[in-house]
Amino acid sequence: MSGEGAAAVSNVAIAVIGDGCAGLSLAARSTSLPNHTMHLFSPQSNSLINNHVWGYWQMDWMKYVAPLTFKTWYKWSVKTEGAEVEMQACYHPYKAVKRDSWLAHCLKNAKQNGVKFHNTLPSITEFSNDQVFDSRPPKWRANMMVQHFLGWEVRADAGSFKDDTAILMDFRCDQSRGVHFIYCLPFSDSEALVESTLLSPNIEPDGFYEDTITTWLSDYAGVNRFEVLRREKGAIPLGLMKRHDPKFQGIGSNCGAIRPSSGYAFSFIQKQIATALSRVERGNKLSFSPPHKKIDLFMDRVFLSVLRNQPHHAPKLFTAMAARLTGDEFAIFLSGEANIKLRLKVILAMPVWPFVRALFQLEAVVSD
Ligand SMILES: Cc1cc2nc3c(=O)[nH]c(=O)nc-3n(C[C@H](O)[C@H](O)[C@H](O)COP(=O)(O)OP(=O)(O)OC[C@H]3O[C@@H](n4cnc5c(N)ncnc54)[C@H](O)[C@@H]3O)c2cc1C
Repeated sequence: MSGEGAAAVSNVAIAVIGDGCAGLSLAARSTSLPNHTMHLFSPQSNSLINNHVWGYWQMDWMKYVAPLTFKTWYKWSVKTEGAEVEMQACYHPYKAVKRDSWLAHCLKNAKQNGVKFHNTLPSITEFSNDQVFDSRPPKWRANMMVQHFLGWEVRADAGSFKDDTAILMDFRCDQSRGVHFIYCLPFSDSEALVESTLLSPNIEPDGFYEDTITTWLSDYAGVNRFEVLRREKGAIPLGLMKRHDPKFQGIGSNCGAIRPSSGYAFSFIQKQIATALSRVERGNKLSFSPPHKKIDLFMDRVFLSVLRNQPHHAPKLFTAMAARLTGDEFAIFLSGEANIKLRLKVILAMPVWPFVRALFQLEAVVSD
């Protein structure tokens, strides 16, 4: 398929490995690659199972996702034993979309666009390596920081949840095993996703997260009777990682899309694809690059070092940041769109010594 040569630039065959978020999000937009035929290879298809919720802040590049979101919050909060900070946004609300609905939408568009599906790996005789984009997960380093979590979508009595405010982090839970918080997305006053989330190198047994959720629901939401409607579980590596297979270019998490300090990747994958497509529109060859600025990666590296080596500071760092920024600024910063002024505002909101100490404890950068 690659043998059509330079004269036939009119049709370039490209192969994408993996039918997860990045593979299908690109396939859905293949009409923006007019001179390409896209082949999607999924030797280990799991696109429509393992449903979960993707949370993200509304940004320009998320306009394709917005119609599929099922809940939007203009307010969110960060809580600790001694403080509660509520933030409000005007332009960049927090939104939730279900993985199965986004992927089904992408699959439908991809089929309409003529994307060709295969359940094997691409053959090296058909595609040269620079035409293969691999979305299989990157390689984890042993003992790296991980965001690991288990969540329950629960149904309780009407009036149990305040559904206009998402709780991004509630630190009122066991802090002995790393940075630990409850993430609660209330879908209505009776249904919510409640997740126990840890940032640490060690995955805990399911019972640890489940006990945390049950205790939080009882102690802080006043919910003792509830039904578990759905369960989700994940582990997202935080930090720079090597590609799944160095022979191929990466896309998605396999091309640095996970934000190292937060584990957010969904919005960054859409941003990475939008950037690649606009490069092609300007006459360049299709290629993907990590969607984060170098300065953000450096700041994240220092921040991760604080979280890893001085986790007891985390509740006050996150509340300090939330207290100092508006909701829109918080969303812009976490979506990688901060300007120098906003970055400075974040830096000035942080206590000095934990970060000075962290500079001496930085881990080596792992290059691809
Ligand atoms: C439960 C959960 C909740 C999350 N919530 C959020 C959130 O709220 N917000 C956010 O921004 N991010 C979130 N993330 C992180 C991130 O958005 C997702 O992990 C996202 O799916 C990454 O997309 P991807 O295309 O890089 O990888 P994936 O979607 O995982 O796709 C990888 C593809 O590679 C295939 N594959 C894997 N291994 C092999 C193999 N050995 N051989 C062949 N094929 C293989 C898989 O079948 C899949 O098709 C969450 C992650 C999880 C797991």
